[in-house]
Order: sequence, then C-alpha cells, then structure tokens
Amino acid sequence: MAKEDYYELLGVAKNASEEELKKAYRKKAVQYHPDKNPGNKPAEEMFKKISHAYEVLKDPEKRAAYDRYGHAAFEGPGAGAPRGPGGGGGFHDPFDIFREVFGQQGGGGGGGGIFDEMFGGGGGGSRDGGRDGSDLRYDLEITLEEAARGVEREISFRKLAGCEHCHGSGAEPGSKRVTCPSCRGTGQIRRSGGIIVFTQTCPTCGGAGMKIEKPCTVCRGEGRVAKTTKLNVRIPPGVDTGSRLRSAGNGEAGSAGGAAGDLYIVLAVKEHELFERQGDDLFCEIPIKFTLATLGGTIEVPTLFGKGSLKIPAATQSGTTFRLRDKGMPSLRAGRQGDQLVRVHVEVPQSLTAEQRKMLEEFARVSGDANEPTSRSFFEKAKKFF
Ligand SMILES: [Zn+2]
Ligand SMILES: [Zn+2]
Repeated sequence: MAKEDYYELLGVAKNASEEELKKAYRKKAVQYHPDKNPGNKPAEEMFKKISHAYEVLKDPEKRAAYDRYGHAAFEGPGAGAPRGPGGGGGFHDPFDIFREVFGQQGGGGGGGGIFDEMFGGGGGGSRDGGRDGSDLRYDLEITLEEAARGVEREISFRKLAGCEHCHGSGAEPGSKRVTCPSCRGTGQIRRSGGIIVFTQTCPTCGGAGMKIEKPCTVCRGEGRVAKTTKLNVRIPPGVDTGSRLRSAGNGEAGSAGGAAGDLYIVLAVKEHELFERQGDDLFCEIPIKFTLATLGGTIEVPTLFGKGSLKIPAATQSGTTFRLRDKGMPSLRAGRQGDQLVRVHVEVPQSLTAEQRKMLEEFARVSGDANEPTSRSFFEKAKKFF
C-alpha cells in the first residue's frame, strides 16, 4: 500500500510553519483519538498515521530528509530505525494534549482492570540505537466513595520489563558491543540507484553504529522480557469517569537503552445507588411524609461522608431541592468541594388505619375551602377553561 503524503495527512502546505503543523496535528489528534472513537478501526488507523506524520515533520532533520527522499528516507530493513518515525514514540504527543485536558498526573489505579497495549505502538527510536518502550493503558473501575475520598490500590499486570540477566543491554554478560561491520560505525550506508547516490539507515545496526557481539541468552538481545508487575498507585480525591492518571516510566521497558514508556490509568466511576454525580455536586431524591412536609422538622439524610441532617421548613412542597453545603465531591481544582442536592418527594400514605382516616376526614372538614389542595394561581389560570 502506498504511503500517504505526510503534509496531506495533516492538511497543511509543504511550507507550513512549525506552529501551523502543531495546530493542524492537535486538531486531528483530538478528532481521531481512540478514546473518542471507541472500536472505530479506521479512526485508530488515521490516528496512527497522523501521529507518524507529525513525528517526522516536527523534527527539522527528519522533515528535511522527508522533503528530499520522501518515505524512502525512513525505510529499510531496520524496522525500528533509530532516527525513523517509529511507532510508540509518536504517541507521547497525543497524551500531552490529554494531560492538558484532564490537568492531572500521578500514579493511580486498582484491581480488576483490562490491560492492553496502547494502540500497539512498536517503539520509537532513541539516539543510542535502542527502542523506547510503549505506553500502556490500564482501565480501572472504582466506586463513587473511593472517587470522593481517594484510594490506594495495588494493580498487577504483564508487561515487557527490563531483562535482569543483561540489565537491559541485550548483550550477554561478558560480551561487548562492537562496531557494526556493515556501516563501520557510521550508522548509515550509501546506496547507489543509477546515477543518484543516497544514504540510508544501516539495516544491520538500525543506525546505531554498534552491534551486540553475543546477544543475551535470556532475552535474545531484546533487553526486556514479559513479566507480571505489581504497582501501588494512589488515586487522588475528585476523579471522575474518564480521568487519566499517568505513571511516568511504568509502561513497557525500552530495549537496548531506549526509554521506558508511561503507564496510563484510565478511570471509570461506578454508578451509585443513591447519588447521581453532576459535576462536583451530588444529587439525590429523598421521600418525606406529607405530615413532615406540612409541619416541618429535621430529618437525617445519607451523605457520602456519613449522616447529615436536613431541616425541612413547614409547608415544603414536593419537588423542592435543598442544598447541603460541601457534602459533594472534592474538586480536582483548587480545593473546592461540591454540594449535595436533595430533592424531596412528598409521599401520600398508601393505606390508612381507621383512626387515621377519621382524623384526616376531620382535618378536611375543618379545613373547608380555606385549604384547597393546589395553589390558587393554578385555579386562576384554569378558570377560563371551565
Ligand atoms: Zn537479557
Ligand atoms: Zn551498521
């Protein structure tokens, strides 16, 4: 399949400034981000493509090479060519955007998550020939109470971690890294295509100029092995569904000196049986007796932080909403706390004892016309229909 033009992918002119490139890229990254297009393969593909395109064009050296040689500038058998556009490395930028959006960092997480590699990024290049580790994503569900108070969890997942046998170098202990025989250490080889001679990244060493003499027997030179990893993470109070916590360096290990990826913990807050979250406020509906609504009194109400008390004034109508200050969710911003909103629902008794019925009939009799069941203004408005 022919590769698309990087400039066309981003929708910019060939002479676009760095600023224009960045803007165009951000717009597209937000549009095609997998979180916004769950299960949408074409969008995911597009997201990868624009990430690759931007990864190349944002780097003046790579951009110059691309302008000159096109895609051939980054091709060759050394799939993870250190100066090539790479796979995983390109995904750092999209997440910078999302960090800005969610405005939070730090380690977080807990059990029961689905663990998957973030978009299957292959690994971008690093200067010494290693490949950077992929970013990883861990989906974690927590309760509303945990979201309100913050929680610490131990999560466990499998990932490619640094090989202990070779300390991540990929070289069998005792063996050395030697100058690459193919390129004699330059990392580049010259190819002649008829009258044109062009240089290409050395396929033997991937451009590093060095080669491992004897690959590590445990990781076969990868510098990393699959391993179950446990991690303690702290979730700060106030997170919501979609909040993303970044644990720097806890993604996949890089290979042969490449940097480790990051771990992203993506939170989902379970629905609560009493409270509905509205931003930082919590909403609930509470039934009260018609006598309490009429006469007034104080009731106990549940809050996320224990029992609270609510004063019901006399003559409270059904549907009235009361506000309990600071009983909502803590805000991630500036130590603010949301409120709890309580809407009362006045209940009419389902059954009456003989005595109750007698007393209510007596009540109705003494009330007469002075206590019409609904508000006067309604009858004023309704008059013209009769
Ligand atoms: Zn090893
Ligand atoms: Zn070489």
